[in-house]
Amino acid sequence: MTRGPIDLHTHSSVSDGTETPTQLIRAAVEAGLDTVAITDHDSTAGWDEALTAAAGTGLQVIRGIELSTRHEWRSVHLLGYLFDPHDPVILRETARTRDDRLNRAERMVARLAEDFDITWDDVLAQSGGTTIGRPHIADALVARGVVPTRSAAFESILHFRGGYYLPHEAPTVLDGVRMIAEAGGAPVLAHPATRGREAVVDGADLGRLVDAGLVGLEVGHRENTPEGQARLLELAAQYNLVVTGSSDYHGEGKPNRLAENTTTPDALERLIAATRGVEPVRV
Ligand code: AMP
Ligand code: ZN
Ligand code: FE
Ligand code: FE
Repeated sequence: MTRGPIDLHTHSSVSDGTETPTQLIRAAVEAGLDTVAITDHDSTAGWDEALTAAAGTGLQVIRGIELSTRHEWRSVHLLGYLFDPHDPVILRETARTRDDRLNRAERMVARLAEDFDITWDDVLAQSGGTTIGRPHIADALVARGVVPTRSAAFESILHFRGGYYLPHEAPTVLDGVRMIAEAGGAPVLAHPATRGREAVVDGADLGRLVDAGLVGLEVGHRENTPEGQARLLELAAQYNLVVTGSSDYHGEGKPNRLAENTTTPDALERLIAATRGVEPVRV
C-alpha cells in the first residue's frame, strides 16, 4: 500500500537544488509523498544525510543520481536508481565529470567576468561544493544584481546560445546506461523529449540503450512536450520500458514543485525489480 505520491527526481544542495538533503526530505514529508528519490547531478554525496533525515518519518527513499551524458553533440541526462555507489567505474566517471564541470564553470566565469560584475569566488560561495554547474553561476549573477532570478539567467546570458556557454566532458549515454546497469541499478532516460516530437535518443539508438540495460523513460516531466510525451509512450510500448513521472524539484532554484508529476506504484515496483545494487529504504 502506498500512502501518497511517488516522485523519483529531485535535487539537493549537493548539486544544484537550494535545500540540503535534510531540508529536501522534510519538504517531501510535508508534501505527503510516499516515496522520494534523491537524484543529484553526478553525485551520491547526499544519500546518507537523506536517509538519516528520513528515519522515523515513514517516507520511502530511493537512492539515485542524474548522470550527465552525451549523445552525438547533445547533452543527455540519465537517471540511475539503486545502484552500488562503491562501483569503481561509477566512482571514477562521476569524479571525472565533476572535475570537468569545475574546470568548465571556471572558464565560463572567466568569459563572463569580461562583461559582468562576477568573480570565481562569488560562484564558489553559491555551491554546496560537490557538483558545480550553471545554476551556481546564475545564483552568483543574481547575488550581484546582474539578473533578477536564476531562471532569467538561464534564459539570457547562461543560455547555450547566450555567448558564454561552454560544454563539459561526460560519458556517452550508452556508457552511462552500461555503468548503472552493471552496478545493479536501473537506468531511466530523464526528460527525453523536450524539443518537439522526437526523443533525444530515438529509433535504433534507443534500441541499443535497451540492449545495454535501459529500464525506463521519464515521460511525466514539465519540460517534455505534449507530442514528445506521446512519442515516448509509443517507444515505451515498443521496447517494454517502464514509464515514470517526476517533478525534478530544485527547491527555490526552479518553479518545479514536488509531486507535480508522479510515478505509479506498479511502475516503481517494476523499476525496483530490475535492480540488485542497494535496497529502497523506509524506516
Ligand atoms: P549545467 O548542467 O551546468 O549545464 O546546468 C544545467 C542544469 O541547470 C540542468 O540540470 C537544470 O536542471 C538546472 N537548472 C537549475 N535551475 C534552473 C533554472 N531555473 N532554469 C533552467 N535550468 C535550471
Ligand atoms: Zn539540476
Ligand atoms: Fe536534467
Ligand atoms: Fe534534474
